[in-house]
Amino acid sequence: MYNAEGGRILIVDDDPIIIRVLASALEHCDVVMFAKTGAEAFKMVRQHEFDVILLDVTLPDMSGFDICRQIQLRSPESAARIIFITGRISADDEALGLNAGAVDFIRKPLHVDVIKARVRTHLSLKQATDKLNRQSRLDGLTGISNRLEFETVLRREWQTARRLQRPVSLVFLDVDFFKKLNDSQGHRVGDQYLQTVAKLLSTAVKRGSDLVARYGGEEFVLLLPGAPMQWAASVAENLLAELREMKLTHPESPYGFLTMSAGVSCQIPVDAHYERLVEQADQALYRAKKDRRNMVVKFDRQDFNSNF
Ligand SMILES: [Mg+2]
Repeated sequence: MYNAEGGRILIVDDDPIIIRVLASALEHCDVVMFAKTGAEAFKMVRQHEFDVILLDVTLPDMSGFDICRQIQLRSPESAARIIFITGRISADDEALGLNAGAVDFIRKPLHVDVIKARVRTHLSLKQATDKLNRQSRLDGLTGISNRLEFETVLRREWQTARRLQRPVSLVFLDVDFFKKLNDSQGHRVGDQYLQTVAKLLSTAVKRGSDLVARYGGEEFVLLLPGAPMQWAASVAENLLAELREMKLTHPESPYGFLTMSAGVSCQIPVDAHYERLVEQADQALYRAKKDRRNMVVKFDRQDFNSNF
């Protein structure tokens, strides 16, 4: 349950008296920091995350409107909600502030209860938005990342790898004979097995940049930035072995237990087209599925060009 009294607040004002009044009105918040100039404010925003920023319109080095606009531009997704602290303000300036991305105004002279109420409202809204953002990136059944999040992270890691000229590896994994399992055991068992597989795959995520996602249906993907092909392939081999050892009953499979197949691809990016890496892992997986399943296939350009 969200505690609307929590939250991380940044106060930006060049007047120490205003800072003191705001800080004492918000002393119940988790974190209250302050900055006296635009430059200081940018530094704080780079180093910390805030839910609400209380921003003076006139600062010594720049206008609050410009600060607001730049903060919104830098991190549009996780942006803090910005409330302007103003004296008397014209309707034109108010429109300017709202267009710059502010969500509210608090007028001087400051009133403690008004400050508390406004901040509480915006903390709740920020919390609700953050929750929706988080949920939109997760798969509902397994709780791991979804395909959308995978593609966002892959795009970002691909750019980094291209700059550093280091490899990016992908492992596509698909549960074998899953449709037969659902048909014979029911979707509840199928769902439980998918959750188990997701949990198993999560153990392979060792570094901050690694990612495991449900790609769709019974298909999962493991993104391993910086990992060479052989490393990714051995991660896949280990996961397949661990699943076999769990001996999850699957009467419709010739193996008798739940197994999965994997396709691995690896590239050092030469251009922006990360989609090829996905296609190659998918092709390798397809080959594993066409063969005996319960195996790992590495994408090899020469090998595959003769057959695809
Ligand atoms: Mg001022």
